[in-house]
Amino acid sequence: MTLAIDGGTPIHDGVWPTWPPAVDDEQRRLVNEVLESGLWGSNTGALSEQFAQRFAQVHGASRGVNVTNGTIALFIALRAAGVGPGDEVIVPAYTFVACATSVLLLGATPVIADVDPDHLHLSAETIEAALSDRTRAIMVVHLAGSPAPMTEILELASNRDLVVIEDSAQAHGAHYRGRPVGSIGNLGTFSFQSSKAMTAGEGGLIVTNDHALADTVWSLCNVGRELGGAWYHHASIGWNLRTTEFQAAILLPWIDRLEGEIAVREEFVSTFSTSLDEAGTDAVIVADPKGTTRNSRHLMMIRLGLGVERSYNREWVARALDAEGVSVDLGYPSLGGLEALQSGARVMPTPRLDRVAESILWIRQSMLMAGAAGGERSAAAFAKVLADPRAWSNT
Ligand SMILES: *Cc1c(COP(=O)(O)O)cnc(C)c1O
Repeated sequence: MTLAIDGGTPIHDGVWPTWPPAVDDEQRRLVNEVLESGLWGSNTGALSEQFAQRFAQVHGASRGVNVTNGTIALFIALRAAGVGPGDEVIVPAYTFVACATSVLLLGATPVIADVDPDHLHLSAETIEAALSDRTRAIMVVHLAGSPAPMTEILELASNRDLVVIEDSAQAHGAHYRGRPVGSIGNLGTFSFQSSKAMTAGEGGLIVTNDHALADTVWSLCNVGRELGGAWYHHASIGWNLRTTEFQAAILLPWIDRLEGEIAVREEFVSTFSTSLDEAGTDAVIVADPKGTTRNSRHLMMIRLGLGVERSYNREWVARALDAEGVSVDLGYPSLGGLEALQSGARVMPTPRLDRVAESILWIRQSMLMAGAAGGERSAAAFAKVLADPRAWSNT
């Protein structure tokens, strides 16, 4: 079979579902209702509050507070938990830059820790290696929809009296040991930025089961006001980090669609996995930690060259897959290598991540929405491309 990169016929026409998915009638109705009502701000209309509480409830939390975006949600969650200048917060080396910049915004120090090479999350072992007497909090990231190994992390955190923030920006609807992510640690944060599993273009949310923390979060997002207090009474320093009713109008109906969309992406992944196995390709889907009861499949992370001595030429593989109509991403560079973070962060050695980082490829959520048929075609493209000797870097 001639590869498409050499002029052969592509496996797929390259037309994949768009993201966000088509707007539904309820979203259209609510957006229009907000528009006509003139109640555009969350402090005037009722939808934002309704959305925050329903979203929190679905994620196992008693309280939810809307906030401008997922980056600021991390900043506010840490601030509410009392993290400040001089404190250290442990963050994983394989994640989005906001995990470190949100800590820097507090005047605190992000400590960039290694990740487990099998599932790419922080583990008790990699956190342990990064601890100091200044450690105040651990920021776990439920990466690509895959919950972090919370049992071992919570045990370590409780032994050392550390705060646990769950960055759930990529894990709307994911479950760990039957519990929704976001409500397992002290505070959970979500994002509704364009690329996420639920989106209003931008947006964020903080959930918790701790009422005192929820009140503090609300106050920080509402210029230091107290919940139920007077408009010009500012009990503490806070900011205006509110969202609009338009965002809630788009997001509220989405809560009921989330499970169905996760199921479609799961079909892509399971079909991809089976087809790849049948083709005998030496690539695997990155494993979930023990205790995962539902990966929400935000992205599919694939690892090339598992268990062999040689390694793949990842850039060539990505180009060849693209020609076959199956676009992939190369994923995150190691956070500790980012120039901009060098002066403010404490960077731990990351031998585990370094071993595997160059062999990771991502398939994005919009493609996963093509379900079983998309998974089958994508696996066919992988099998075709990986059978070529040019896929190997030492040939
Ligand atoms: C997207 C994302 C964020 C930041 O969310 P924004 O809404 O874009 O600010 C934080 N952490 C992770 C892991 C993310 O994927």
